[in-house]
Amino acid sequence: MKVIDIIDSEKPSLSFEVFPPKNNENFDKIKQAIEEIAALHPSYMSVTYGAGGGTSDNTAQIAVNIREQFGVETVAHLSCISSNRSKIKEELDRLQRTGVENILALRGDMPEGFNPDELTYRHASELTEEIRNYGGFCIGGACYPEGHPESKTSAEDIMHLKEKVDAGCQFLTTQMFFDNNILYNFLYRLQSAGVNVPVVAGIMPVINPSSIKRICRISGTSLPQRFVRIVERYSDNPEAMKQAGIAYATEQIVDLFANGVKAVHVYSMDRPDVATAIMNNISEIIR
Ligand code: FAD
Repeated sequence: MKVIDIIDSEKPSLSFEVFPPKNNENFDKIKQAIEEIAALHPSYMSVTYGAGGGTSDNTAQIAVNIREQFGVETVAHLSCISSNRSKIKEELDRLQRTGVENILALRGDMPEGFNPDELTYRHASELTEEIRNYGGFCIGGACYPEGHPESKTSAEDIMHLKEKVDAGCQFLTTQMFFDNNILYNFLYRLQSAGVNVPVVAGIMPVINPSSIKRICRISGTSLPQRFVRIVERYSDNPEAMKQAGIAYATEQIVDLFANGVKAVHVYSMDRPDVATAIMNNISEIIR
């Protein structure tokens, strides 16, 4: 099933993102965690793709497994920055062969010391267009309510987002954000710019406070002061931090659905306990 049809349906959509195992060493443990998340029967699950291509085999395999074993629809992420046309064609052939119908088309992070002249793909819109020309896939893309860190202005970022949508992107999933007003303002700006595809709100339950400040700095995500206080208050008590992180994410999700957002994507980080808690907290809301 195409994810766009899931998002467009009347029911609120709650989906989870998982990371495939990076190597064979911890494959079984991560596979099991992912299966526990799939057993919750979210609206769909997305499976990330290593920027260097290291996990590309696992992305397709995990996506197929989730769909076949649990009947949960999947989105396979695909990044292009370290790739070329023949590799992308191979990936698309493989995804098509295995029955994956949905792709999140990404550029990936710029490799250090890159020479732009050597890159086949510079922007996700080029990959999007290629997938659209290949045919048969529902295509999603990434967007950034606080602007992509490489963009000088948010207007410029939204202009390029429009190009990505015009190239064939049918839905957008946001970078994490911790203040819903940032998303609401972003949605108004998209509307004014004529970006009319559905936007799936990306929510990160913060369980591990040591990495969150670094991740936010790199991704350009701001932490509201009231959330910083929560992290400071509970960061040396892992169980309390987990409860607080799940409660904060739940509050964001309830507010989003109440204010007309139809689809929420939870960065569940291969944590079935976190995915289960979120699912239980809003079970009646998404029924
Ligand atoms: P783009 O859409 O190409 O945008 C990147 C920057 O280029 C932006 O600043 C944009 O404004 C600018 N730009 C776009 N077009 C043009 C143009 N024509 N001229 C000039 N500038 C332009 N990374 C992974 O490696 N694997 C994953 O699985 C993965 N999953 C992700 C899922 C989500 C929901 C999100 C939000 C991000 C994910 N990422 C993933 C990270 C992503 O690859 C990085 O954020 C990357 O830096 C940008 O990718 P993009 O697809 O948004 O790029």
